[in-house]
Parts: sequence; structure tokens; C-alpha cells
Amino acid sequence: SAENQIQWDKAPCRFCGTGCSVSVGTKAGKVVATHGDQLSPVNRGLNCIKGYFLAKIIYGRDRLTQPLLRKTNGVYDKNGEFTPVSWDEAFDAMAEKWKATLKTKGPEAIGMFGSGQWTVWEGYAAVKLMKAGFRSNNLDPNARHCMASAVAGFMRTFGIDEPMGCYDDFEHADAFVLWGSNMAEMHPILWTRITDRRLSHPHVKVVVMSTYQHRSFDLADIPMVFKSQTDLIIANALANYLIENDRVNKDFVAKHVNFRKGTDDIGYGLRPEHPLEQQAKNAATANDSESIDFKAYAAFVKPYTLAYAAKESGVSEPALRALADIYADPKTKVMSLWTMGVNQHTRGVWMNNMIYNLHLLTGKISAPGNSPFSLTGQPSACGTAREVGTFAHRLPADLVVTNPAHRLRAEKIWRLPEGTVPSKVGAHAALQNRHLKDSKINCYWVQVNNNMQAAANMMEETYPGYRNPENFIVVSDAYPTVTCEAADLILPTAMWVEKEGAYGNAERRTQFWHQLTQAPGEARSDLWQLMEFAKRFTMEDVWPAELLAANPDYKDRSMFDVLFRNGTVDRFGLDEVDKKYANDEADAFGFYVQKGLFEEYAEFGRGHGHDLAPFDRYHEERGLRWPVVAGKETQWRFREGYDPYVEPGRGVQFYGKSDGRAIIFALPYEPPAESPDAEYDLWLSTGRVLEHWHSGSMTQRVPELYNALPDALCYMHPDDARSRGLRRGDEIRVASRRGEIRTRVETRGRNKPPVGLIFVPWFDASQLINKCTLDAMDPISKQTDYKKCAVKVAKV
Ligand code: SF4
Repeated sequence: SAENQIQWDKAPCRFCGTGCSVSVGTKAGKVVATHGDQLSPVNRGLNCIKGYFLAKIIYGRDRLTQPLLRKTNGVYDKNGEFTPVSWDEAFDAMAEKWKATLKTKGPEAIGMFGSGQWTVWEGYAAVKLMKAGFRSNNLDPNARHCMASAVAGFMRTFGIDEPMGCYDDFEHADAFVLWGSNMAEMHPILWTRITDRRLSHPHVKVVVMSTYQHRSFDLADIPMVFKSQTDLIIANALANYLIENDRVNKDFVAKHVNFRKGTDDIGYGLRPEHPLEQQAKNAATANDSESIDFKAYAAFVKPYTLAYAAKESGVSEPALRALADIYADPKTKVMSLWTMGVNQHTRGVWMNNMIYNLHLLTGKISAPGNSPFSLTGQPSACGTAREVGTFAHRLPADLVVTNPAHRLRAEKIWRLPEGTVPSKVGAHAALQNRHLKDSKINCYWVQVNNNMQAAANMMEETYPGYRNPENFIVVSDAYPTVTCEAADLILPTAMWVEKEGAYGNAERRTQFWHQLTQAPGEARSDLWQLMEFAKRFTMEDVWPAELLAANPDYKDRSMFDVLFRNGTVDRFGLDEVDKKYANDEADAFGFYVQKGLFEEYAEFGRGHGHDLAPFDRYHEERGLRWPVVAGKETQWRFREGYDPYVEPGRGVQFYGKSDGRAIIFALPYEPPAESPDAEYDLWLSTGRVLEHWHSGSMTQRVPELYNALPDALCYMHPDDARSRGLRRGDEIRVASRRGEIRTRVETRGRNKPPVGLIFVPWFDASQLINKCTLDAMDPISKQTDYKKCAVKVAKV
């Protein structure tokens, strides 16, 4: 019978930024199977091990199904037991705290931490709620930990965010250079495309650079393990090699490039009183930014010879030369790829800029196979965190809160009075934690992330803020996590195909899915939660007297009406919802809320280089890469013939900059914040693994994935183990100046660090390695360096 038939629909995978499309089979209201979508141009029918077990992530036995408030004797108590409450009671408790805090301390005491796993419209609703409703820019996504350096790198070099190339580059490139990415584990489906290209085209070369050997090295023609932080030296040495060997594409540089010194912003973003921060400020020699010419740039990189880079990095000079020749040869099409090795770096923005330098010097950019490509870790790091603008300084479509014209444009699209959006940049991720600890933020809402496990320096800078008696912490999640455990109120959340959604992947591809099943119990989507919470406030509760005096009509109106219903989401009636699909949110609100929010959001980008297609089309397609103009997606931006925004006759136009020229930055080496010494004598690098996604809150609940890799391990060199009297499997203590964990030694595993470095993955909640990490960050992007701090290891 029809009831026994499996119904197949499409959805993007819930996990990584690759953005694979998955065929999702449902039967009797339950997701029963998934497989790689044959029609997807991204994954062509394949999935990685996580994708194959997607169906199971929604059926863990401990799904949260009811709001839980900490209570003692029936009354809210910060140290009470989690007690089931109704949604009404949960929202009332929240609203009481929010209103009281707004009254006594103002909007800056309200904060929210979101995610690149929010759907597009969830992130967009959060931006409106926080920036226009509560008038607080203290909104940041966990994508801050992931690719904030990539964003700042794009903005500095090109004036517009996100890669110019696309995944089609994989089938055109002659060489792949991994600058700090273990794609074999973190982007496995993209790795299959590189592997296909390498194995079927013998001339293709793969270069893998990292501070330790990992699985991507299996395919490397040129493997390079460099000393931590010396990637800055290697990048300059390659630029110098191009110049000294007359391999600069002079015509391209003359037409499309400007040169600048860009060493503004000093320090490591630690608390000002931190000794390492003071040391950095004292040692700083450069704090300038000015235009220079090619000659000055050439003189700047001149000291960075291959011999010097070899000495400092520990990579052999012939290997460096072989890499330099790949960029130098005009016939070799090069794709440079990077993720956290470059972005989670105290000079991550500079590293992004310096990789672009190489592509700009050679003109190897914005053309099939010539592609500097910044990869992302989360399914909608691009679509939601970046494009929607959930960062503390941003608004949708690359607009920023500090620019009056940008704020005005947002206020116009939102049909709100001038002056609604505050101009001060809000607190970024690490600063939010410090503000919670210091009682500067008192009301805090966390959605779709597990920041207690993810944020650096957990015991000194994260946990104290959540448990601060002055603060009320709300965590929305599908499963209990360490972040939930530290909260005052837990809200149960619908996940993935339990709601209608949209994600944007690393190649600017926006993908939609329909709601295919219902969430368990009382779990509701983040979107529903945001909008229902807005109903608890009138504008008088949230806006200051001056704004209300100038706009008296708003005073008694509900925040839900002002932000979400009137003139925005209620433009689309329920008859617009495809009857074949359930859509709980649309039913709950009585209009097609997702469509309304999306179409309003799309107004920001249309005509401004970020054009999105009409809503309905995305339900028909396996995604489209923006800008989508006249119905056509864009594969290579900034190149005439591909990108509709390039003026005829220009050939290449970096139109993010007013003169159409990208910038090559002269940037020096700078030491890391903390290095090993006599006591803390090892580098610690953290990262992910193939089987688990991020903090493991979903994948650890899938038996097959859990059994494939149940526990985190400390990967170390056999000599380092031997010199400490350790054997494989021994229980050890990994300790830094900030905290310690217990784990086990692995000397033969998939990661093979050099002497002096250990690697510990962070997916395992029973071994919280972020107790040890340092909250030092890039001073421009405010992204934490999770790849470098000093630790010691001893037998338990
Ligand atoms: Fe594809 Fe990433 Fe999902 Fe694996 S986790 S199936 S690579 S999107």
C-alpha cells in the first residue's frame, strides 16, 4: 500500500560545509533511510560515513522533548534541578529576565550566540530580533571560531565576501595546494574529487602542508610538515620567489591589483591585563596601513628567501622550490585550499591575504582551475553566518552596522524607523564569554551550538560566565550537551528535516529542503522559538524613549508584529505552501513564514552582487550559486563571460573595491601568542575527525559512528612518548597553564605529529580539550587560534 512505500525527497546534509545533497527516505512519518543524491552536482551520489548515517541523528534516545527550567521547590533557582515546564512558562521566565535587564542595564546586557547551522531564515530572524528588536549587536555565530579570518581576508583583499571560484575548479586544476586543511577527513567528498583528478591525470600534483602529518598526506606528491606559525614565512618566500624569478604576471598586476602595507591591529585579543597580551603590545613594531607600489612590496618580501624559509619552517628547500614552481609556472592551474589551519591562527587574516597575494601576483584567479578556495566547516557558515550577517558587526549581504548608509538600507527593507539599528559593534564570541563572566551580559540565548565544549580556555573564560549568579542562560538544542548542563533553561529544538530549511555551502550554493517529518514531543524549531519569544514584548518594552517618542505609533505594538508579521512574512498565505509537504511553522503562524522571511532577506542582495533566485525555484533545484541573475547562477566571479556584474570589456573586475582592483598586502612574520618552554614543552593542536561532526552531540549518538571512533586520543610522536615513559594506550594527563584533561596515548594512529607536537580532537565531551586551549585570537577577525598553545603530558 502507499503507506508502506518509502517517499524520497532531497535535503542537504546536516553536517559539513561541503553541502552534499542527500536523498531522504520517509515512511509513516519517520526518516528511514538516506543515500547520496545522484542528481547533486556536489557529491554525485556519494556521501561520507557521516552522511550515510544521517537518518539516525534525529532518533537518539535522549532527544530533548520539553523545556527544562532549573527549579527548587517549584521556583526558578540557578542551582536547582532541571524541571519540565511548558513553553509558556519557559518564555515567561525568559521574558521577565530580558525585560528587567533591558530596564536596568540596557540592550548591551542582552546577548545571543548562534551558528552556521541555523537555516537561512532562522539566522535572518535572529538578526532582526537582536539588532532591530532588542537593539543589541551582541549577536555572533560559532562560525566566529571557524572562518571569521576568511571573511576578513576576503573583505580586505577583495571588498566582498566568499570564494570567487567553485567546485568545478576541481576538474580543471593541475595542482592542489592544501595550506592547512585535512580535507581527507573534514571534506571527504571534495577529497574524492581531488583524488579522482589526481589519479586519472598523472600530471596533477597535490601539495599538503600542515604542522603534523594526517590522512591527506596519503595523496601528497609534496608533503610538508612545517613548524607552527611559519606558514607566514613560507607564503612570503613563495611571493619573493615569483618576483625574483620573473614569474609575476605583470599585465594582470598592472590592470587589476593595488599594493598596501596592512599591518594594522596588534596584540592577540587576550584580556588587556594578560601577560602575553602585554608582551605582544610591547614587542609590536608595526601598526600601519598605507598604499605602496610593486617595488616597495618586492623590497618587503626580499628577505624571505627559500633558504630562510627552509631554516625557519623545517621544510626542505627543494620541497619549497617545487611548491613555488607550481605557482610560478604560467601553464599550471592551481587551486589553493584551506580551512582551520589557516583561519584558526593569530594571524589568520594575514594568511588569507598572503595566499591571495600568490594568486594575484600570477593572475591565477577567477578562472576555471585557478582558484584560491577557502573551505567552510558548517553546513551554512556561508549561507547563514556570512550572507545573512549574524556576526556582531554585520547586517545581511556584507553590510556592516558601523556604516550609516548600511543601517539605513536595513531599516528601509525592514520598514523600521531610522535609528533603529545600533551603530556600535557588538561583542564577538570570546568577548561574549568574558562579558558573561564580568556580568556585562546578563541575558544570553544560545542556539544550534555547543560553545561550552567549543570555546577556548573553558574553565577560566567560558564556564564561569554561564554559572555567574547574575546571568540567565538559555540553551536551545536537540540533545543535552555540556552547554545545556551549564544553562538555566533548556529549550528542545526541532532539527534538520523536522522543519523546512535552507543552507548555503562553501561554493555559494543555496540549497533548500522541505519539512519531511515532525519533531518529537514539544520540540520546536529555532525559528518558531525566536518568533514566539518576540510575541512576549511590545516595542515599549524594548525600544528607548527617544525612538518611541519620534515614532509613537510603535509603542503598543507587539515586537512579533513589527519585526516579523506586518508587511514581511504575512505576504505569503498558506496556499503558497506546497500541499504535498507538511510545514508546522507555516501552520502555527497561519502564513508561509519561511518564504516571507527569505523574500525579504533576498531584497538586501538583489542588484548588489549577492542576488538570490526566487524562493520557489530552490525547491526545484539541487541548489544555485549566487549571484543568480536573469535566472542563471554564477560559477566564477569577477571574470567577464561568467559573472554578470563585470562590465563588458573589463575582462576581470574585482568590483568589491570601488576601483575594481584587489589588494596585495605586505605582511610580516609574527610569533604565536604562546610557545612551548621548559615546563610546558609541547605544542597542542586541536581539530576534528572524519567520524564525528564538531562536538559530537549528533554523531556520538549514532551507534555506527560512535563505535567507529568512540573516544578522543592524544596523537603523539613515538619518541615523545618514549622520552616520557609512555606507551601506546597509556592514560595520560594533558595540562596547560589553564586546565587539564585525561586521555590516552596514540602513537600509531591516523595522525602522525612530529616530535614536539600533540594533536587532540575536540569531539569527545568526556575529554574537554578546550580546558587547555588559549583564548588568543587574530586581532582583526577575533577568531581564536586553536592550533597553537603550550602543554605538558604526563602519565596518570
Ligand atoms: Fe558530504 Fe560533509 Fe555530509 Fe560528509 S558530512 S556527506 S562530506 S556534507
